Amino acid sequence: DPTTPLADTIAAIATAVVPEQGSVGIVRLSGSQALSIAQTIFTPARPHRLWKSHQMIYGWIRDETGQTLDEALAVWMQAPRSYTREDVVELHCHGGIMVVQATLQQCLRRGARLAQPGEFSLRAFLNGRIDLTQAESVADLVAARSPQAAQMALAGLQGKLAESIRTLRHQLLSLLAEIEARIDFEEDLPPLDLPAWQAQLQQCQTQIQTLLATAARGELLRTGLKVAIVGRPNVGKSSLLNAWSGQDRAIVTDLPGTTRDVVESNLVVRGIPVQLLDTAGIRNTEDPVERLGVERSTRLAQTADVLVLVIDAQAGWTKADAAIYESIRHRPLILVVNKTDLAPLQGIQIPPQIQYRIPAVAAQGEGIPALEAAVEQIACQGRPQPNLAVSLNQRQAAALIQAQASLERVQESLQEQLPFDFWTIDLRAALHALGQITGEEVSESVLDQIFSRFCIGK
Ligand code: GDP
Ligand code: ZN
Repeated sequence: DPTTPLADTIAAIATAVVPEQGSVGIVRLSGSQALSIAQTIFTPARPHRLWKSHQMIYGWIRDETGQTLDEALAVWMQAPRSYTREDVVELHCHGGIMVVQATLQQCLRRGARLAQPGEFSLRAFLNGRIDLTQAESVADLVAARSPQAAQMALAGLQGKLAESIRTLRHQLLSLLAEIEARIDFEEDLPPLDLPAWQAQLQQCQTQIQTLLATAARGELLRTGLKVAIVGRPNVGKSSLLNAWSGQDRAIVTDLPGTTRDVVESNLVVRGIPVQLLDTAGIRNTEDPVERLGVERSTRLAQTADVLVLVIDAQAGWTKADAAIYESIRHRPLILVVNKTDLAPLQGIQIPPQIQYRIPAVAAQGEGIPALEAAVEQIACQGRPQPNLAVSLNQRQAAALIQAQASLERVQESLQEQLPFDFWTIDLRAALHALGQITGEEVSESVLDQIFSRFCIGK
């Protein structure tokens, strides 16, 4: 049926579109016309070369006038052995945005439609090649900022979460079937083995609880942590950022107040993606530029997940330090006592509430391991150990919580010995919630929301 959205052939640039980056640029086509469109713009170098599925061929991309646009490789992946389960053709051009864009233009002129963000993955889902959790893992894998986050996404892509959910659904379905049979043919069946039935239900609840426990850690690996370095001018904030990130990005000087703007650096701390922010010194000032930086840093300090307050060991705990501390003391905080090469940490009057206090010599990178340990401890407080086998995102966790609540109600109905109809309503609700995770029962708006997160070409 040519009017269904799946019937048209879509095209997009599948590789990053940063100018002058990457030596290969890939244009991807998917749909029933993928091969015929590709054949009109790609000419094999060997005349009469036959297109065979999953075989690269070498040749040229040509426009309508026959002018050569690029020397390229083409590969056809015949349905259903492709990412989308449709006919897919990839044209591997030379990197460089002009050539890739010209090739895409040709595809569009010959009848393809520009793909929406995530549309290839959406088709893979709609055609049943991947379930919804796997599709979401594709987006997570692309966005992963640490090896651990990538591993976690890969586990999802391999269907580990989907598998657990399917097993759960299966168990609940058989529990439901037993009840429904009793509703329909009460007289012909032996009475329900209640203790056994309840034990199975309890087992499902325990499994859901275990899955939910992975959600927090998963979220941390996905979104990472924002860590802001704060403190008065000249205590060594920029030196600390440079030593920590191993880059000379912040400007280090002897003049107070040179780090005017916010400098940021991305690093991985024990598997957690960390965005490190060096703020201008927080202090009262008349200089408007400085004020801007100070305002920005106060605001940043409010949005950061963890604050690293740096003080100068030689100066001790000054009034200015105390003032900054007052404005951020309700936030997760690590105190770095810097310049301990000049004076020892002992003897400095630090407020006893400050739990984490790390001696450091930022200029020499001393104290960084202890700082990282403190960051990890704060980040992982109350979170379970990493379980890379499965992990949930917020959407999936919300659905599991719903399922859990429904099963609680089934337990209640059971205890109060309510009629079977009450049990089945809640069992069905739990099954529905689980179906939303894998995509068996999911609305179009939810799909839109999920796939619009993707980049074009995925
Ligand atoms: P910021 O204004 O807080 O960003 O401080 P900077 O990182 O710009 O450092 C101010 C000065 O302190 C520079 O001259 C640094 O070389 C010096 N400094 C930074 N860390 C240390 C340290 O651990 N020991 C000593 N002796 N000097 C340091
Ligand atoms: Zn600085």
